[in-house]
Amino acid sequence: MASIAENILQVRGRIAAACRAFDRLPTSVTLLAVSKTCPGVSVREAFAAGERDFGENYVQEALAKIDELADLRGQVRWHLIGPLQSNKAREVATHFDWVHAIDRMKLAQRLSDLRPPELPPLQVCLQVNISGEPSKSGVAPEAALALAHEVAALPRLKLRGLMAIPEPADDPAAQRAPHRALRKLFEAMNAQGLGLDTLSIGMSADLEAAIAEGATCVRIGTAIFGARPAKSVPTS
Ligand SMILES: *Cc1c(COP(=O)(O)O)cnc(C)c1O
Repeated sequence: MASIAENILQVRGRIAAACRAFDRLPTSVTLLAVSKTCPGVSVREAFAAGERDFGENYVQEALAKIDELADLRGQVRWHLIGPLQSNKAREVATHFDWVHAIDRMKLAQRLSDLRPPELPPLQVCLQVNISGEPSKSGVAPEAALALAHEVAALPRLKLRGLMAIPEPADDPAAQRAPHRALRKLFEAMNAQGLGLDTLSIGMSADLEAAIAEGATCVRIGTAIFGARPAKSVPTS
């Protein structure tokens, strides 16, 4: 089995190739290493291979890992990419640098209220339910623009962009369609002066399609850390 460092080289190669193919600057795409369910030692391996941005889904698991890796604090950025309940808002506002899954104003307001004054604003993305799946979290595309304006006005949050987890699809054209819809929404927001710079789309199976449609942050788990155990992890 390939090592984490070898996997990272391979993923960086895929990102570079996609950037060449779609006429993007390689520096315009950040690799977010999704370390959910991985032990701290795996994060250290990825850190040693140059990774600085790490994505986690489950708040309790992430807090334990952030604590275990406290010596890396200030050198790495922790991103919460999974759904978040309001009762975890204080811990999230205190320990994370980014939250990608804002989907309602009440949650955003709480995070802003609870972000410690000595820290920089919490960097956030709105999660948009771009494929319109009833079971998926995320704000409906029709409601996203209004929410973006409200969130952008909060003092302790910095609205950076949009995030989506489209329905999985096998062929590149089908993969690109929802990514393109998200980019259109992103452009509409910027046309209204929101100044967004982050499109958080693309995972192990579709990072090329996401880069083709303007991804600035690809969230890669399996292709770096290997297959995850079947779901037995708590949901937050
Ligand atoms: C798990 C997860 C990823 C990573 O998915 P892979 O297919 O393993 O690359 C990306 N984004 C979110 C929101 C996730 O939950």
